[in-house]
Amino acid sequence: MLTSKPLASISLDLDDQWSYMKIHGDTGWESHPSYLKIFLPYVLDVLDELGLKITFFIVGQDAALENNCDVLQMIVSRGHEVGNHSFHHESWLREYSKEQIENEIHMAEEAIIKATGVKPIGFRGPGFSWSADLLDILKQRGYVFDASTLPTYLGPIARLYYFWKSNLSKEERKGRKELFGSFKDGFRPTKPYLWKLNDDSTLLEIPVTTMPVFKIPFHMSYLLYISGFSMLLMKLYLKFSILMCRATKTSPSILLHPLDLISGDQIPELAFFPGMDIKSARKIKVFNYAIGILKEHFNLVTMNTHANHLQEKKLKVRRTKKSNASGT
Ligand SMILES: [Zn+2]
Repeated sequence: MLTSKPLASISLDLDDQWSYMKIHGDTGWESHPSYLKIFLPYVLDVLDELGLKITFFIVGQDAALENNCDVLQMIVSRGHEVGNHSFHHESWLREYSKEQIENEIHMAEEAIIKATGVKPIGFRGPGFSWSADLLDILKQRGYVFDASTLPTYLGPIARLYYFWKSNLSKEERKGRKELFGSFKDGFRPTKPYLWKLNDDSTLLEIPVTTMPVFKIPFHMSYLLYISGFSMLLMKLYLKFSILMCRATKTSPSILLHPLDLISGDQIPELAFFPGMDIKSARKIKVFNYAIGILKEHFNLVTMNTHANHLQEKKLKVRRTKKSNASGT
């Protein structure tokens, strides 16, 4: 039952072992090594303990593999939601032609329906990648919301850090040149709004929330990173972010990733990855603490519930510029 607290939605991008290897430039990702059978039962128990229902954005390629169907089915049978996170999880989705984007959305959707029995109504682009064509296609396919934008000025810094830590060739770096977005993404709104599309219809946008005014991310990966310096600093940072959300009447949408919750002690193949040396137990402690603070201030809900609620509100409307994608 919902109380008078404002809403905040929680979602998890279900990036699999192979997509981390792929983005890191490691060989062997092509056979799609997966940790879903370890991660999903584990995280579903963690969420049950907290009495929390969230939205899992599933990568179509994982749903298309017969071997993953039983664990993906568990997401739905345990009361959580599914969203579409593209088929191939390629962060340069924005560079795709309209036909390629249509294929990505369609193939992922089919695979997710086949694996879970549920048609997603929300989409999040891999690496916060999106384009005007993508939004048009989502609308045509009956999606209710897009959740691909991350309004922060820090995208280029996150990308530099990523390249520094990766084994990517010059060519691969070129393909990922817009990974995590550009500086101008910082000027995008933090609050949900409506995109006015090319045919004058609208599509709801729920950005991954960054700290209002300052536009610095406070999703779980950042909280975990800060907690590495000081747990107290992490608490202050989260509390200040919440204060800014409350002061600006922003209903936050909080993002999680598998590596926020699991570690090299469970997935040795990814032990080399940044943050994977932090023990799982410590990650869960930070997660439980952050969720506890968020619960004091917000009703924590799934993204579909958040989207339904927003549809009753008067939201700002922004027009999309003709595609920056279109395969050029
Ligand atoms: Zn992802």
